[in-house]
Amino acid sequence: MDKVIGIDLGTFNSCVAVVENGTPVVVANRGGYKVTPSMVAVTEGGKRLVGHIAKRQAVTNAENTVYAAKRLIGRKFNSPQVESTAKNAPYTILPGPNGDCRIKLRDKLYSIPEVSAMILQEMKMIAEDYLGHEVQKAVVTVPAYFNDGQRQATKDAGQISGLDVIRIINEPTAAALAYGFGKNIDRTVAVYDLGGGTFDISILEISSNGVFKVISTAGDTFLGGEDFDQRIIEWLVEGFLEEHGIDLRRDRMALQRLKDAAEKAKCELSSVVETEVNLPFIISSARNEALHLERLLTRSQLEELTRDLADRTIEICEMTLREAGLERDEIEDVILVGGMTRMPAIQRVVSEFFEREPCKGVHPDEVVGLGASIQGAALVAEDGEMDMVLLDVTPHTLGIMVVGGYFEELIPQNTTVPTARSKPFTTVRDNQTAVKILVLQGESRRAEENELLGEFVLTGLRRAPAGEVEVDVTFEINADGIVSVHARDIETGKEQSITVTATSGLTKDEVAAMMDHAQEYAVARRSDEASEKAKQEAETLIAEIEGLFPEVQAVVAGSDFGRDAIEKARAVVARARELMERGDSAALTEQIDALNRTRRMFKGVVGKSA
Ligand code: AMP
Repeated sequence: MDKVIGIDLGTFNSCVAVVENGTPVVVANRGGYKVTPSMVAVTEGGKRLVGHIAKRQAVTNAENTVYAAKRLIGRKFNSPQVESTAKNAPYTILPGPNGDCRIKLRDKLYSIPEVSAMILQEMKMIAEDYLGHEVQKAVVTVPAYFNDGQRQATKDAGQISGLDVIRIINEPTAAALAYGFGKNIDRTVAVYDLGGGTFDISILEISSNGVFKVISTAGDTFLGGEDFDQRIIEWLVEGFLEEHGIDLRRDRMALQRLKDAAEKAKCELSSVVETEVNLPFIISSARNEALHLERLLTRSQLEELTRDLADRTIEICEMTLREAGLERDEIEDVILVGGMTRMPAIQRVVSEFFEREPCKGVHPDEVVGLGASIQGAALVAEDGEMDMVLLDVTPHTLGIMVVGGYFEELIPQNTTVPTARSKPFTTVRDNQTAVKILVLQGESRRAEENELLGEFVLTGLRRAPAGEVEVDVTFEINADGIVSVHARDIETGKEQSITVTATSGLTKDEVAAMMDHAQEYAVARRSDEASEKAKQEAETLIAEIEGLFPEVQAVVAGSDFGRDAIEKARAVVARARELMERGDSAALTEQIDALNRTRRMFKGVVGKSA
């Protein structure tokens, strides 16, 4: 049976898990870490770096290192969220051809799904290295509050990376799956998920028969750890400005160092009550003197700087409970997810609000990936093997624009998905052959305040007097939370063709071209790895052979045969060195056989003499 991997594609860190013998396990990367930074960089030499190696060089190559691409995925270039990210990001964000965003790394522009695909590809390889075989299928998680465009773009990322994303699931739902899987419990739980970039809250009912039903969900895709870091950065920058009259925001390198220092201080303050931010040589003064930044930050100061952010999450919790029609005391367990829930102030506001201590048994960084792998395994399991049903909801209301610029609701928020609603449309003019429908997602009564998913144009309608052609349009949300639209002429039963204009995201052709690219990279990366391995093996063998030369010489130098053997051995080593230098890994792999033979022969000689 196909293995399905579960990927938590996080704003700052990603995690991959797989179910083995009925138990979900997180797969560590080669460095031994269970989470991999969601960072991508391109070096001066054009080499792509992903994960820890990208993070390590972020300060010195800030302009060509992308982090938090998830904040941009599925968003339009001219949205306020992109504008605010562009203001703080050391990398350059430019408008794309579909109203989307592109990121400039060195001399190339990358779409956001392409950047996310690089991270997915890395997670795929981590899983493959562990499993020892290729994997194709994956379940990828997204914030519950992601809209259609963001989900679609995540799916595109999966496709570009060469993965078949068999399901997209919501992060808090995945966390609840990992929490409740195999426990046989009946419980109403709240999942509070505060990560690096997004906040989600979901209320679920877990039944002992394996049904995980989401009752309501809400969130903010622009509220997370980075906003906490930003508050510390602003505080440091303002202090520095006051003291030295220099705005550190103007220096990209200084800004990147500040970012790292702010995050570090924030994390430290989860376990200690004060910490010193120390950044020597942060910038030069007008008189060319090196200036240092040194400031003490206390936990209570941090809490003061970020109080409104913590409070905002609680307001959203309140709203979600109301939507679920539940009182706080009906929540029987609170599950904390996301790195930010390690902050004591967050744990405090959550326990105060729900009037109970959050559950301790889940690992906030790993639980989403684990849940995704459980869902993956369940989707390909044989009947009866894994009895589990996941019923999620749509986080946003789906509707259309009607006369006057109003938003007509078709599928309300928190409706269980998959779901479909139909609506009849009639022609308003004689011989009208096309109808344009604007599909939107959001909670505002005014259409323009909601997210435009696409323009659907019904074409090829029958020519008839006004009002005679009735078309039934079906709006569907699938289990991934992705919207599609179909139309049918009621009288003739004929399916109508629909043209969808992408309002953001990528066209099919673009995705196909990007897939080819990603595939080339995967091959190059694998062959890089193979050549690195061959080089290391050859180096070890050469060192061993060279170490044996004096002893072998002492034993065999007296005979012509011995001198000959030594000559030959030197030639084998010299040839291996030459191939290493040339980077000819295919020939080097063959030469390794010769090195091995020489080593065996040398060992034999030395062994005889011993
Ligand atoms: P996630 O998206 O779940 O990986 O969460 C990452 C966020 O959690 C980042 O903003 C981190 O700075 C933050 N984080 C990680 N560890 C801690 C900690 N010990 N205290 C406070 N925040 C943390």
